Amino acid sequence: MDHHQPRERRAVLVLLRLKSMRYLVTTKNFSPKNKIALALRKYRKSMEDWVKPIDGIRRFRASSANAFILGVMFDRNIPAGRAWEAAEWVNDSLGDPGDITALWRNLVEIEAKRLLGFLQYGYGGKAFHRYYKTLARQLPTAAQIILNSYNGDPRSIWNNQRDVEVVRERLEEIPGIGPALSRMAVLILATTYGLLGGKQSLPQVDIKPDVQVMRVFRRSGLIAPKATESEAIKIARLLNPEFPAELDPPSWEIGQKWCRPTSPKCSDCPISVECPKLFGK
Ligand code: SF4
Repeated sequence: MDHHQPRERRAVLVLLRLKSMRYLVTTKNFSPKNKIALALRKYRKSMEDWVKPIDGIRRFRASSANAFILGVMFDRNIPAGRAWEAAEWVNDSLGDPGDITALWRNLVEIEAKRLLGFLQYGYGGKAFHRYYKTLARQLPTAAQIILNSYNGDPRSIWNNQRDVEVVRERLEEIPGIGPALSRMAVLILATTYGLLGGKQSLPQVDIKPDVQVMRVFRRSGLIAPKATESEAIKIARLLNPEFPAELDPPSWEIGQKWCRPTSPKCSDCPISVECPKLFGK
């Protein structure tokens, strides 16, 4: 060190050196999995359409709550945007904005054949969903559960409830909503609506390990090639305990845009530097 430098300048240099040493020590100790998690979180911060957890509580209007339940039921094996639009459409057609129970009563009372026909052709002459036959069976049962257990108001599933597991269990009683969809639902409730304790609930909110997320987790080495969905959930909890689900949107988007099943575009992928690119191993 040049001892002729002014004392303040020397102090700044020492501080900078200490900072860079601390940085080196910290990043050196990061495991490859931690580095991937960091890269995913960094990319998440740049995602424009990802809704960051809100501070307050945004109330669900009655009709939106109905559309939300339908959307969760529909959001499988078709593009998400299409599923949520179809759910809105069904809600508008069979529900009544002034009476939250009307949708569920109609779904219980409608003749099975008519419901099937509506789901098959009601979406501008097309089916609302590729599994419209399954939904024609599941919707009346779902409606019966919402009428019996929640007086026809699905907001009773989550209102005044801070235990994410309880809400997930309640959602999974509705046919068509499995563990992956219930995880997605509580993520939306906690982050977009500030429900379930809002930010306090984030450590309990898991990833939704769908096909995109699993592919990115496998190829980036976060999980073994044959790992199960529950192992993916566990590693996300371990790597990002304050908010495990934060790793979900970036993984899902990377799976959609770059980490395709065939011909992945690794050179454009935002986690390419850290990713070991484990294809078919
Ligand atoms: S696209 Fe390539 S770099 Fe990106 S996650 Fe997939 S394997 Fe890794």
